[in-house]
Amino acid sequence: MEDLTWPRPATLVRIGLVALVALWILGPSMLRSALPIWLVFLVAVGLEVQFLVGALRAGPRQAPDRRPQQVDLDRYGFEPDEDVLDEDDLDDDQDELEVAAEPHPFLPPVRRFVLGLGLIAALVLAIWLVDSRTGWDSLDGPTHGKAAARFSAEASRIAGKEVSIYCDESRDYVGAVQHADGVAIVGGDRAYLTPERCFDLYRLAFEDEVTWSRTARALAVLAHEAWHLRGVGDEGTAECYALQSGVEVGRRLGLSQGTAERMMRQQLAENALRGAGTAEYVVSPECRDGGRLDLDASRTSFP
Ligand SMILES: [Zn+2]
Repeated sequence: MEDLTWPRPATLVRIGLVALVALWILGPSMLRSALPIWLVFLVAVGLEVQFLVGALRAGPRQAPDRRPQQVDLDRYGFEPDEDVLDEDDLDDDQDELEVAAEPHPFLPPVRRFVLGLGLIAALVLAIWLVDSRTGWDSLDGPTHGKAAARFSAEASRIAGKEVSIYCDESRDYVGAVQHADGVAIVGGDRAYLTPERCFDLYRLAFEDEVTWSRTARALAVLAHEAWHLRGVGDEGTAECYALQSGVEVGRRLGLSQGTAERMMRQQLAENALRGAGTAEYVVSPECRDGGRLDLDASRTSFP
């Protein structure tokens, strides 16, 4: 029998999910970067399935037998009045009791499951709506132009010539090197960054907002494409140079020297972990203080 004084586990999970999503939307950006929300939804769907399977396995609840039990009949000598209550009537009453208690044995768990999935779908939609109003696309045209000009100026300093950074997902450039986060023509004068990277750079440069690993990655990507524009074709070399230039770019866009250095050091450490799948991205052992790829031999910290 269910204890009606406490909410079901499924209800608690749903309340928790709504609270978590609200916190994710309204809370600090640190939570957003630390907590992959799709994983939360995956777990929520898994729990709903588990609740459904559990409810179906438990089977339909038995309607209690309301007739006097044999032991009571023996003790009190009560006998049903044959004239009023014959066997057929008893059976009919019993059927009605079961119908009233459980209209269909499997419907309530399935209905609760559908309700749970509906709630999850509504939360996914809410997050999608919020995201579409807070990303790069939420900024107006003049802001896009101002931001792209700023990124272009930083890239030009690295490339040693006038280059342009576009915030776009253009991926059909012949002869260009393409990455998950950007596209550049080696030795060319234009590079494209994904809107996500552009938005992280925009937040740093114009809003003073930092989301540690995302800001770090965006700085590294901007510098990486700029080194391609300068003429460096080798991926490992471009990345090693980018992590060193990224310190300067980060500082110029508003970070402290110490923070910028820590970010690029972390990017260098993550490069080794990422490398397994994308061999051409792995920086060489020469990417160290005093190594062949050290751009500034006089500095003792690296990058
Ligand atoms: Zn590259």
